[in-house]
Amino acid sequence: APAPAPARHLFSDPAEVEALRGNLLAWYDRCKRDLPWRALAATEPDADRRGYAVWVSEIMLQQTQVATVIDYYNRWMQKWPTLQALAQASLEEVNELWAGLGYYSRGKRLQEAARKVVSELAGQMPRTAEDLQKLLPGVGRYTAGAIASISYGQATGVVDGNVIRVLCRLRCIGADSSSPAVTDRLWDMANVLVDRSRPGDFNQALMELGATVCMPKAPLCGECPVKQHCQAWCRKLFGNPRKVPDVEDCGVGDCPLCPPATEPWDSSLGVTNFPRKAAKKPPRAMRTATCVLERRGCHGAPEYLLVQRPSSGLLAGLWEFPSLPLAQDLQEEREREELADHLQAWMGRPVAAKGLQFIGEVIHIFSHIHQTYVVYSLPLDGDVTLDPALSPSRWVTKDEFHASAVSTAMKKV
Ligand code: SF4
Repeated sequence: APAPAPARHLFSDPAEVEALRGNLLAWYDRCKRDLPWRALAATEPDADRRGYAVWVSEIMLQQTQVATVIDYYNRWMQKWPTLQALAQASLEEVNELWAGLGYYSRGKRLQEAARKVVSELAGQMPRTAEDLQKLLPGVGRYTAGAIASISYGQATGVVDGNVIRVLCRLRCIGADSSSPAVTDRLWDMANVLVDRSRPGDFNQALMELGATVCMPKAPLCGECPVKQHCQAWCRKLFGNPRKVPDVEDCGVGDCPLCPPATEPWDSSLGVTNFPRKAAKKPPRAMRTATCVLERRGCHGAPEYLLVQRPSSGLLAGLWEFPSLPLAQDLQEEREREELADHLQAWMGRPVAAKGLQFIGEVIHIFSHIHQTYVVYSLPLDGDVTLDPALSPSRWVTKDEFHASAVSTAMKKV
């Protein structure tokens, strides 16, 4: 069992909880951003459609900025306004619409889950966070809580990156915020705090506060509606957290939520002392040779060859220029030869390495991979026959390329 958290890290005073809820909701009513999924969730009378709309927005917002998501969300809801419509879509259509949004498995899982709701749950979304998480593939604890509270009014808390930051600052939590002990405490806190009569608004308000006021690097504490409840802010102003005027941290180094004794409060950082995370692993470096094969199409316009990636793994099912992962530290000449061999096996005719024209390198950062594409081009005379056993392929014009399910990295290429 985890060590009990000292009272100063908790919200144990009901009057304070009530005041915090009131201040936060009043601020949210005044300052919230107009976002299409909020408008729909607030006005849509059909509960399943509300749940679907919030679900789509939450999946798109994972790891992606609000400003980027809005356009994708609007196009998605126009094309598939209901779960039933999405269940009938093909994966190719989903990937085409998702192209450029990143983390492509999200779209695929959303569609698989929609099919499951239609075929196994009679088209009805589960109504509680517990059932949403249990029954829908790709729906984790956060997404389930968000759908249940925003769409169905269940009084259940949510914890995402914004909420972690706000709660860690409100209660001076300086232990590793990704550790299971801290994560459990944050979920407990979110469940204690959530407003019983407006749970969806409260959760969105807490996240909105993290996104627009309590920001990672330069929080706007002077404008914060809950600053009087914030221990990090008090500590910055007065040197000590409120209500515990006689100690800096909880005690003698055994508090599971305080900063470790080896990394005490740094007054130059102020409230940004919190939250703290264990250092992330650096992204893995990868090199991939990519060849843009070009031919004249029937109207004389250039066409480019795309091949489809495998149906699982990174960028599953997306289309790309023929590519070959390379070992690190190969000489340029060797890279070119390996790419030529690869193309040759695939086209069934000789490809001279020296015929490959080096174009340049493109770097793309995936969340855990630092990918370098070494780009070549190869103009072709006449047609080529490709081995269909290796992967599906098709020739596209430039416009067709941009409308295809291709990743941002390939667009850079
Ligand atoms: Fe965040 Fe500052 Fe508000 Fe505290 S006072 S919650 S640190 S913005």
